[in-house]
Amino acid sequence: MSEQKKNPLNHISGKRLIKNLVGVSVLSLSVLTGVTGCRGNERISNNDTAKVPQAVSMKLISVKTSVSIPEGSGQSKVLKKSKEETVKKTDKKADKKKADQLNREQSDLLVLVNKDHPLSEDYDVKMKTLDHSDKVAAEVIIQDLQDMLADGTGEGLRFCIASAYRSAERQQEILDQDIKKLTDKGMTEEEAYIQATRTVMPAGYSEHETGLAVDIVALSNQLLDDSQENTPETQWLHDNCDQYGFILRYPKEKTEITGIDYESWHYRYVGKEAAAYMKKHDLTFEEYLEEKV
Ligand SMILES: [Zn+2]
Repeated sequence: MSEQKKNPLNHISGKRLIKNLVGVSVLSLSVLTGVTGCRGNERISNNDTAKVPQAVSMKLISVKTSVSIPEGSGQSKVLKKSKEETVKKTDKKADKKKADQLNREQSDLLVLVNKDHPLSEDYDVKMKTLDHSDKVAAEVIIQDLQDMLADGTGEGLRFCIASAYRSAERQQEILDQDIKKLTDKGMTEEEAYIQATRTVMPAGYSEHETGLAVDIVALSNQLLDDSQENTPETQWLHDNCDQYGFILRYPKEKTEITGIDYESWHYRYVGKEAAAYMKKHDLTFEEYLEEKV
């Protein structure tokens, strides 16, 4: 069966493009990324400020480089030999640098963080603030994330990013709050810990600390509970997120593998190729990584 390549940009033409540009730039972007009526379930209090999206532009440069003039073509013959050699040498060095960078990005994209795999202390990915939002995420996911939400918004949906990157301190704070709520209700510390960590991980064990995970809900229903999966926004994301490189990280039928209760709102960026593969073969991230080994 041939895999149809679904690039969202292919569909944007004429009327749609104008609609997207107007809708996104003026109103929708503020709606979809959490300014108007989108509470979000937390505030980001770290200092990961916006940086130039180098990671993204590096990829574009690399694509261009890989389709550069083939050797022996008419155009390359025009170059004088000495100049050609210098260019080749420089290109080779630059290509190697870009390839190394891409490899690093690729392996970072597939970093596994779960109950058994804490985030490595030397994990170091650039974070960036989303447009029109106080939320921060790994720079490398921003473009696809914003494209996904813009396309959904173009179809009349209204999203809210409830949570994106969290620092380890913030992660622990959220868990502590959840445990306190449960002990206030009469549970022992141990019971409360077990119950709370069914959905919230302690510091060092949450995907949110990678900057590659986002919780997205409908603007009209911002509850992180079972009702979320019935919203048109969540249904659309479940159907389409793979096209933008995201997977639904904790599916309903696979809680034993992921170790986390079903979360219809938690998406993890893995890149388009990996996301498409996991969707096609109905694999969780854990299963995918195991298959790859
Ligand atoms: Zn989440």
